[in-house]
Amino acid sequence: MALKQFKAESKRLLDLMINSIYTNKEIFLREIISNASDAIDKLHFVSLTDSAAARTFEIRIDADKSARTLTVSDNGIGMTAAELESNLGTIAKSGTLDFKQKNAKAGEETDSLIGQFGVGFYSCFMVADEVTVISRKYGEDAANKWTSKGVSGYTITDAERETSGTTVVLSLKADDDVKYSDYLEEYTLRRLIKHYSDYIRYPIIMRVEKTVPKKEGEGNEVEVSDETLNSMVPIWKRKKGEVKKEEYESFYADKFSDYNPPARIVTASIEGAVNYNCLLFIPSEPPYDYFTKAYKRGLQLYSSGVLIMDNCEKLLPDYLGFVRGIVDSADLSLNISREMLQHDRQLSEIAKSLEKKILSELGKWLKEDREAYEKFFGKFGQTLKFGAYESFGAKIPQLKDLFVYYSTEGKFVTLKEYVTGMKEGQKDIYYAAGSDVTTLGSLPQVTAVTAKGYAVLLMTDNVDEFVVKLMDKYDEKALRSVSSDKLDIETDEEKKANKEKADSSKTLLDEVKTALGTNVTEVRLSNMLGEYPSGLTAKGELSIEMAKVLSAMPGNEKIRAQYVLELNPAHPMFALAEKLLAEDKPKFGRLCVLLYTEAMLTVGINPENPSEFVKLINEFVS
Ligand code: ADP
Repeated sequence: MALKQFKAESKRLLDLMINSIYTNKEIFLREIISNASDAIDKLHFVSLTDSAAARTFEIRIDADKSARTLTVSDNGIGMTAAELESNLGTIAKSGTLDFKQKNAKAGEETDSLIGQFGVGFYSCFMVADEVTVISRKYGEDAANKWTSKGVSGYTITDAERETSGTTVVLSLKADDDVKYSDYLEEYTLRRLIKHYSDYIRYPIIMRVEKTVPKKEGEGNEVEVSDETLNSMVPIWKRKKGEVKKEEYESFYADKFSDYNPPARIVTASIEGAVNYNCLLFIPSEPPYDYFTKAYKRGLQLYSSGVLIMDNCEKLLPDYLGFVRGIVDSADLSLNISREMLQHDRQLSEIAKSLEKKILSELGKWLKEDREAYEKFFGKFGQTLKFGAYESFGAKIPQLKDLFVYYSTEGKFVTLKEYVTGMKEGQKDIYYAAGSDVTTLGSLPQVTAVTAKGYAVLLMTDNVDEFVVKLMDKYDEKALRSVSSDKLDIETDEEKKANKEKADSSKTLLDEVKTALGTNVTEVRLSNMLGEYPSGLTAKGELSIEMAKVLSAMPGNEKIRAQYVLELNPAHPMFALAEKLLAEDKPKFGRLCVLLYTEAMLTVGINPENPSEFVKLINEFVS
């Protein structure tokens, strides 16, 4: 029978895995046991409606020192030949692998790969030079054997197995710097199982030898018996105080394939319309595919300890999609195989209660550990803000106090903190929206507001301004863009002087407008441009930043804000414009284009015709 090649990516990954200097080789056992447990979960689920599938579920470990093999077998769902081929012959898709390789720090590479790609099975090759998997799918008579010596490829042949399930046989590598034979020692296996797999809900059984005293005076004898090595109580059913942080972390790493410890762990036992336990995790980093469609949102749903669904999307609103975890409800079991509708209603009851619970936990976190919360918000704040946007503002009351924004005062603040810190005479909450804090901080409009002693919130998420528009006010204070014409931070005297200047410049402003045609909706004066001759803002509901976000979406390319060109009357270019208007109208026209293009650049919009722009600059500097 032919030796089949692994898919290209799998080969590279295997290479990495086998030749890595990865120190934590022992995790292979956890991976194999978790796969066994998942396989049993699947058959357990079948058994709820098909009594023939019911059996005493178990995982067995067998260490054979003379053959140098370690065997893990389960009586779960098993795999067909085709499943062996597709599950064990391919690993992560190349795109994600490339991504990870580019992003992983050297040395950590293999570590994170194991976690993030569901490649647990391949970790066997860190300790074994040959792996054999004999599997029989539930409901089928035939069994199949998959064998591989690593990178060279694998074979699949017919085999026999008495019942459904899977047996994984690892032929351990010869001892060198690493004593692989340790994995055949009872104490090592006990330690590893206790450490990594104690919460596995099925017994992990091993034949152990015990030296027991014979009858009186007859010395000792060796007794062989089965022993269950794990305690089996699902971790989410144990009291929080009795579970060590490391146990939660190890569970999380194993279950959700994320080897960064979670940033926050939430447990709850809720009694209400539907009773349930939950164990939730907020990751410290977004998963590699988080911002893609491939990311699977949702929680694992268990009913009295039986896995019902891996990614139950209905349990979480989109905007809490970063939360991972488990929900277990005894109340669901009655309906699993029956009315889906009723089932749905219970799910939505749980979802409602979970949403409340998660939001209140986030609020608690913000109060208890600000630094960690801000870090979390930096990673997932944008998702949370989508909650306000998607609900057309309906969720704003629950969400608004969970948002933190970077302020020109050099720290993150909540809206409440901003309002509390408002200066006397300050009417509104000021913000500036754009792509990054540094650019925003140096915008002339921002500097003009901070010069008055007012803080400005620098908003850099795409969704920010949309949310702000929906929010409109916080605590009766309007949220006001620093580029709004309603900014109103000038003193009465300044206003009066501006009005006079605007009146006397009316002809000039009209001429600029005429020269720029439909490019701009309005041309006006501004005293807030600092050292810049011109600036650009927008009229109406759609700001420049919002238009940028929208026009980046397919089909929206034509969306544009209504531009307002602002001119700085204190700048020498203004005087030049006045002069040219009187003396050289064509050159005046070109100056208008220069001022307009410069203004666009300051808000991050590139000129349509860069070479024309360069020509203009040269004309005016020479
Ligand atoms: P993951 O478990 O993260 O999906 P693995 O590489 O560990 O990734 O396993 C790949 C797939 O092989 C599993 O998703 C499962 O479908 C299948 N598999 C592995 N071990 C078993 C087993 N003992 N019984 C049934 N299927 C298994």
